[in-house]
Amino acid sequence: KRRSIIAANWKMNGNLSLVSDMVSGLNQLQLNENVEVVVCPSFPYLPAFSYAAQDENLQRMIQLGAQNVSEHQSGAYTGEVSTQMLQECGVKYVIIGHSERRNYYKETSTLIAHKVAKALESGLTPIICIGESEMERDSDQTNTVLSAQLQPVIDEIGIEKFADVVIAYEPVWAIGTGKTASPEMAQETHHFIRTFLADNQVDVAEKVPLLYGGSMNAANCEKLLAQADIDGGLIGGASLKVDEFKVICSAA
Ligand code: 13P
Repeated sequence: KRRSIIAANWKMNGNLSLVSDMVSGLNQLQLNENVEVVVCPSFPYLPAFSYAAQDENLQRMIQLGAQNVSEHQSGAYTGEVSTQMLQECGVKYVIIGHSERRNYYKETSTLIAHKVAKALESGLTPIICIGESEMERDSDQTNTVLSAQLQPVIDEIGIEKFADVVIAYEPVWAIGTGKTASPEMAQETHHFIRTFLADNQVDVAEKVPLLYGGSMNAANCEKLLAQADIDGGLIGGASLKVDEFKVICSAA
């Protein structure tokens, strides 16, 4: 059985008081055994989160994630953060290639592949985000777009290494819009992604956790998470509300 992951992507939101509220809120959670919760706050809050979650029980349940990382080891890259720095802050996961990074910061699938390689090399687990725009879905380009986003990563790290990555399918039109993909549509796309990976390597495809992201909330999470190829969620807006996020974690 694949592990389930519920990951919070706070984006450029939250503050120190949300850090402590979230940590104490999650502390009371009763999770299913194979569920892992990952919280990805902005860089400055990583040490505070790590410190607040020092309790043993919490450390088992909650993992810390970052929202981005440099493809370089170290050096003159003003404003960038390295894998090593993240690890010193207790980070285990890193979101790579979010559509906001692709669209607003012009990150290409090639750059994203480099970042994935760097993360894996240092022992971080990348959460690789892929997803189509509304126009691409409307013109039946979804599968082509998703394959084109994944292929450079396969070329760079090799398919075997996918045993150590997580993939998040986030249709761009569903992000922050309140428009969720229907459970059936999400399942169909997740199934396509798994089949695409299986065409390269069957065993690995069965292992990769595939998360859905895009307006997932307390009301719609149960049906989405019940789908055969949906192994969890990457949650934006609803992960900023402790009680709502807890409902989603408990549904996994
Ligand atoms: P929302 O849950 O706010 O739609 O954001 C999804 C997302 O982009 C998570 O990475």
